[in-house]
Amino acid sequence: MKGKKNISAAFLSIAAVSISLSMITGCSQENIFSDVGNILVSDIETTGKKAAVAGENDVKEEENYKELTLSKETKHFLIQYGEKEKPYINEFAIAVEKSYQDLYSIYHIDVKEQIKINIYSSLKELHRVIGGSGTDQWLTGRMFNHTIWMSSPIGGSGNYSYETQLYDIPKHELTHIFVQSMSGSERSHITRWFDEAIALHHGRILSQQLVDSGIKSKLKANEIPSFEDMETYYDAFLRDMGYVFAATIGDFLVETYGYNKIKTFIQNPTDYEGAFGVTKNELWEKWVGYLKEKYKS
Ligand SMILES: [Zn+2]
Repeated sequence: MKGKKNISAAFLSIAAVSISLSMITGCSQENIFSDVGNILVSDIETTGKKAAVAGENDVKEEENYKELTLSKETKHFLIQYGEKEKPYINEFAIAVEKSYQDLYSIYHIDVKEQIKINIYSSLKELHRVIGGSGTDQWLTGRMFNHTIWMSSPIGGSGNYSYETQLYDIPKHELTHIFVQSMSGSERSHITRWFDEAIALHHGRILSQQLVDSGIKSKLKANEIPSFEDMETYYDAFLRDMGYVFAATIGDFLVETYGYNKIKTFIQNPTDYEGAFGVTKNELWEKWVGYLKEKYKS
């Protein structure tokens, strides 16, 4: 029960943060937990205080868990879910353990804490818990600290296929957790585009067709954003195709520099030259060159 209380309190605190950020930046989008949340997690865990949250986000703690009546524990995960999810849950458990092993074999780091995955029956239910409109079809998963919230691949997969929701969304969010584990206290300095680039490389939630057509049109219009442009959050990141660009940055970094240098950068996320041997600006120019070469017609 202690664990549940902490997570719930953390959620409520972050929900409050998201409301205040919404007012400032107009944000309402993904990774409030993974991007803003981590800056705040130590406060939440050490104080244990429950934030005052007004309006529809004022969800009672027990309501966050009311439909998660079943649980399954694996080597690294505690999966909580409802009756509807039973048909695929064994396959899911095997898949997330495989994703963990994949990431471990690349980065050689373990996530020290048990990772919790809460699977909600629908997008509406997920959004009720994490804060969302209930209709955003792309918002089917989030992470905060060592918990992943996601909606059911059956009836809650939004814009994604059953397979994407079953395999790629959890791997995407798990990658954020690995990045968090590798970065230690420095994660708050990791920029959004880089965090998403690595998560999109491992958890390929965007179709290649979507990425290719988006990049081609932006190249044609000569509208490639700077890294600074992609450090913006939420609405601007989404509106300006941040995920599509970030997906290509992930592949570019892996193909050009390899995982060891990426890990070095995660551990020192302001030291571009130490990790990649080039300045931030030079890295951007190399990425643009990679795009032009890849998409030349
Ligand atoms: Zn992400």
